Amino acid sequence: MNTPRPLEIAVERHPNPTPAAEIAARLNNPVFGRVFTDHMVTIRWTEGTGWHDAKVEARRPFQIDPACAVLHYAQEIFEGMKAYRGENGQISLFRPQENAKRFRNSAARMSMADLPEELFLRAVEALVDIDRAWVPDGDGSLYLRPFMFANESFLGVRAAHEYIFCVIACPVGPYFKTGKSAVTVWVSDQYTRAAPGGTGAAKCGGNYAASLIAQTEASAHGCDQVVFLDAAQHRWIEELGGMNVFFVLDDGSLVTPPLSGTILPGITRASIIELARKEGLTVNEAPVSFDDWREGAASGRVKETFACGTAAVVTAIGSVRHAGGEFSIGDGGEGEVTRRLRTLLTGIQRGKVADPAGWVWNVKA
Ligand SMILES: *Cc1c(COP(=O)(O)O)cnc(C)c1O
Repeated sequence: MNTPRPLEIAVERHPNPTPAAEIAARLNNPVFGRVFTDHMVTIRWTEGTGWHDAKVEARRPFQIDPACAVLHYAQEIFEGMKAYRGENGQISLFRPQENAKRFRNSAARMSMADLPEELFLRAVEALVDIDRAWVPDGDGSLYLRPFMFANESFLGVRAAHEYIFCVIACPVGPYFKTGKSAVTVWVSDQYTRAAPGGTGAAKCGGNYAASLIAQTEASAHGCDQVVFLDAAQHRWIEELGGMNVFFVLDDGSLVTPPLSGTILPGITRASIIELARKEGLTVNEAPVSFDDWREGAASGRVKETFACGTAAVVTAIGSVRHAGGEFSIGDGGEGEVTRRLRTLLTGIQRGKVADPAGWVWNVKA
């Protein structure tokens, strides 16, 4: 029997790549998501043909028809991951297989084409390899954004018959402004992010579109991020707009809301659970209500709260604002357990701490 040959990714180098001095200037304190590398990967999928036309090429705008399905019905998914430059110059990714798997799950939920995990990984690796000069050292990293959208010109309401998968990359520094050891969050009592049976567990652009009004409300209240409560009872804490959340209790244990289908299954979340358990800490995946959080912060039962995700890694939540007032957690700064887990995770990601679970994926030169 013939096994199908894996799709080759053709390489068409940028005719005028950015000179090294210019790259160095742009790597100096880049604003998150504004500076992009020279190349992108594109792979097309058409019903009947499957995946084809895979290439690394100069980054350029797409030409899409005004009737392009994604513009009308928002069939779009994405991933977020980072490439790090270790002290020895080795460039690595963190658990990229998990992103490849989650991308397939998101695609299935949104009735989109199934991208093989090995092709996802090769696409990401090809972009990091060709744009390796753009991977910052020190605390910076190269943020990778694989995404897929419905590219069929058709206004009928059904799953599209054409998709484009693409990977772009941007060098980034810390997600939140430096000098801040903890962020302030806004608890939205009016808007929810995801409902049972909905798309909360898929990494789709539509979830973000629905969350922006709450983010605007958070900014208006001087907060950095939104905390969403469950859609049914507006009682249980789910997650932030783009990060999962953990609570550190006074007995030293950690609690994080369970993956109920309305929460995005974060790779950082899963890694923190494993790391904390290896460190001898108890981690419970259990519902936490807003009242428990507020009362626990007041009584000292909740000693720390932190958010986690690829972009912001591990970030302490120092103060909480809501329609009924405001409270702070601990002394309002980064707590001890938060700091310990952040240092451990970033140490593994950057090759400074041993990687016992095989999470670090070295990018071939
Ligand atoms: C991406 C994302 C996260 C974090 O996932 P990681 O895999 O840890 O980066 C959490 N919540 C939402 C809504 C997300 O989109």
